[in-house]
Amino acid sequence: MTSDGALKLAPTQLLIGGERRDSSDGALMDVYDPATASVFTQVADGSVEDGLSAVEAAAAAGPGWAATPPRQRGEVLRRTFELMTEHAEELAHLMVLENGKALRDARSEVAYAAEFFRWYAEEAVRGFGELGTAPSGANRILVMRQPVGVCVLVTPWNFPAAMATRKIGPALAAGCSVVLKPASDTPLTALAIGALLEEAGAPAGVVNVVPSRKSGPVVSAMLHDPRVRKLSFTGSTEVGRALLHEAADTIVNTSMELGGNAPFLVLDDADVSAAVEGAMLAKMRNGGEACTAANRFYVHRSVADEFSRGLADAMGHLVVGPGSDPATELGPLVNPAAVEKVEELVAGALDEGARALLGATRPDRTGWYYDPTVLTNVGSTNPILGEEVFGPVAPIVVFDDDEEAIAAANDTEFGLVSYLYTGDLARGLRVAEALEAGMIGLNRGLVSDPAAPFGGVKQSGIGREGGHEGMLEYLESKYIAVQW
Ligand code: NAD
Repeated sequence: MTSDGALKLAPTQLLIGGERRDSSDGALMDVYDPATASVFTQVADGSVEDGLSAVEAAAAAGPGWAATPPRQRGEVLRRTFELMTEHAEELAHLMVLENGKALRDARSEVAYAAEFFRWYAEEAVRGFGELGTAPSGANRILVMRQPVGVCVLVTPWNFPAAMATRKIGPALAAGCSVVLKPASDTPLTALAIGALLEEAGAPAGVVNVVPSRKSGPVVSAMLHDPRVRKLSFTGSTEVGRALLHEAADTIVNTSMELGGNAPFLVLDDADVSAAVEGAMLAKMRNGGEACTAANRFYVHRSVADEFSRGLADAMGHLVVGPGSDPATELGPLVNPAAVEKVEELVAGALDEGARALLGATRPDRTGWYYDPTVLTNVGSTNPILGEEVFGPVAPIVVFDDDEEAIAAANDTEFGLVSYLYTGDLARGLRVAEALEAGMIGLNRGLVSDPAAPFGGVKQSGIGREGGHEGMLEYLESKYIAVQW
């Protein structure tokens, strides 16, 4: 697969109302290859006017799509799943180009992303309502589920395909039309998915894609358009908070998938080699650039040395290089700011007494790379524990009893996912119950699954994506009091 082959799949114009358009002011934005730190293509840079045209197109297409039989909506999604699977290699290479991730990560993301279309093709026909009798017996309570309306979907750069399909799948299954605003660093994968949905038969205007480097004004204008009834956002807590304020102006229904700061607990009775294996997945999938990435390791004193040496050994053997090389296991980070942030966090941790068992360096090569890093001797107040690292860095803290580990794990404003390794399932479930997180990996380093409800508590978000819950986010319940 050459990069030309991958690029053929992705249009570089906006997708609005079934048409490919330049941006209204002719602006273009650069797309960078993180492995070479150079621009490889340009894409139309959507304006406020383009955002509003996309809302217009979505509003026009909405009623027709909502009235389309669920089976037919499901078939469009199923066909898109098939097309994504047929074009899996091009899509994977496209993501490597614009995001930098290793090809093996990109390939698993395509499979994961496509699965949302298959899952919601199956869920589309299950949007049942409810019928009950009022407690007084006076009337019946009929609840019907109706599509919420035009949805604005805003996605991050770390999973350019899956974060888009996790929203488009349930929205279309529910009968909503959408405007997708992908992350500015990774617009091509979203444009390619938009093209595949069209090819699969999504009617003009049902899916609109508007990349833009002017995210603030473009999203704000769309949120203030009264035709928009839903915002589904995945990204940082900081931007999510700002968008919740904006959504309040027009009381737009919101779903928020925000930042994480996942703890990874290894209890004294854990199988340490299984914990290292799980840690490699939880930490290093997607090069550490995941909201679910294990960000803080809490390891019982009796197994801390064995675990730390095992993790440093496994991370030290990772092949670092351009994502396009099939041998690569760790590609570059997405942009120079990401590398600077990781460097700063590691320097701060070392200043506070942490010790680098591995890495804490940048490789001497072109591109936005950072070496796999394991930090030990990390005190419980080290500032690196308070922030999402979003890179290949594992800080390890030692603990002495379960209560101390649970308190440390919960000592954060985030609550997306927690990981936990123990040889005693009952003990694991007790600890899992006490952890403040929307998801728990119990003796497992990977939780993401299109069939399961993904999401966080506290400042990690509101709502769930995937599973049965994912479609409810795009449906309103209408209650009819009826007498017969
Ligand atoms: P980000 O918040 O910077 O950007 C997310 C999206 O919002 C992008 O499309 C961006 O262009 C847009 N955006 C930025 N500023 C905006 C503004 N003022 N108004 C409207 N839109 C704006 O996040 P990111 O750097 O792209 O992604 C990384 C973050 O996403 C991390 O915090 C990560 O934890 C989080 N994330 C969460 C999940 C989850 O499911 N909870 C999944 C993936 C990533």
